[in-house]
Amino acid sequence: MLAVETEQASLAGALGRRGITRRQLVKFCSLMLTTLALPDKYLAATVAAVSKAKKQVLVWMQFQDCAGCSESMLRSSHPEIADIVLDLFSWEYHELIMAGSGAAANAVLDRVVTQEKGNYIAVVEGGIPTADGGVYCTIGGRSALDIAKTVCGNAAATIAVGACAADGGFMRAHPNPTGAVGLEEAVPGIRLINMNGCAHNPVNTAAVLVHYLTFRDLPAVDQHNRPLFAYGRVIHDQCERRAHYDAGRFVTEWGDEGHRKGYCLYKMGCKGPAATFNCPTAQWNDHTSWPIRAGHGCIACASPRFWDHMSPFYDRLPSVPGFGVEVTAGELGLGLVGAVVAGVTVHGLITMIRPAPPYPETKV
Ligand code: SF4
Repeated sequence: MLAVETEQASLAGALGRRGITRRQLVKFCSLMLTTLALPDKYLAATVAAVSKAKKQVLVWMQFQDCAGCSESMLRSSHPEIADIVLDLFSWEYHELIMAGSGAAANAVLDRVVTQEKGNYIAVVEGGIPTADGGVYCTIGGRSALDIAKTVCGNAAATIAVGACAADGGFMRAHPNPTGAVGLEEAVPGIRLINMNGCAHNPVNTAAVLVHYLTFRDLPAVDQHNRPLFAYGRVIHDQCERRAHYDAGRFVTEWGDEGHRKGYCLYKMGCKGPAATFNCPTAQWNDHTSWPIRAGHGCIACASPRFWDHMSPFYDRLPSVPGFGVEVTAGELGLGLVGAVVAGVTVHGLITMIRPAPPYPETKV
């Protein structure tokens, strides 16, 4: 009887009932390792850990948000991320998809905090207003700030998905009438990882969840509490249009010949030289494209406070207020990239607040 219960509670059992084969699970784990920039030698351990994992309780809270991060997660299908991630955890609370509502839904959240204290994963989507006692976002009569303190304060770990949860997002953009902030400022001192981006990339968030299940720890992070595997490299250095930049071939007008030929978008305001993210490799929509491939410059949506610090989005980098680089467009080139990389690297080395956990040696 116990064996049956364990099978039903494990991911392997749940996936089997959904018709997801072991081959598909191995493919998923392989994608997660690639995303995490971990070598293949961890594949066997990852598949074993994920297969045998007892489903852990997860609660997903939405505060000042547009539900875009939920949609991004639930509509992902490369290869079956939504299915597998939904089955990896016991999703006890998620306003967008749960059947219950009102007092019954609130009771579920209260029960998780009480009965699963210290053992559940909390995911937060959306900013948290702090002005006027937090009245600008309330759920069931409680402020988002109060709920976040209780739920995240008692979780094993919290994942802030999207720019809004990470740093307040567009609600925090000037003049920020609701006093919105990100989770890190609203509830300091919790075990937290930030998945910046508008929206977060579900491949990266799934990789963090798989990393947690496999190694029982969160991955190494940078000075902004973002995982290094996803936010450690400058977009400009990974960009498929980089050769055009180096050759001085730029789009100068939307729809011009350079635009049709896929030239560099720097002169149209691309912030790729000043942004770090794995957008060029993780990509979107089942790994089919990303903004620069689609013909639009990067707006640095995974950078802290990008709504204020990286806008106007169509201004060239040296003239973006707050960027603070005293160079002309012509001088930008390698000098700026070097400065960004050096800044990220040095700052990261000095202020990195959580190193990678010790990975166990395993055989494939
Ligand atoms: S400026 Fe933008 S489009 Fe041009 S190479 Fe850099 S990241 Fe790519």
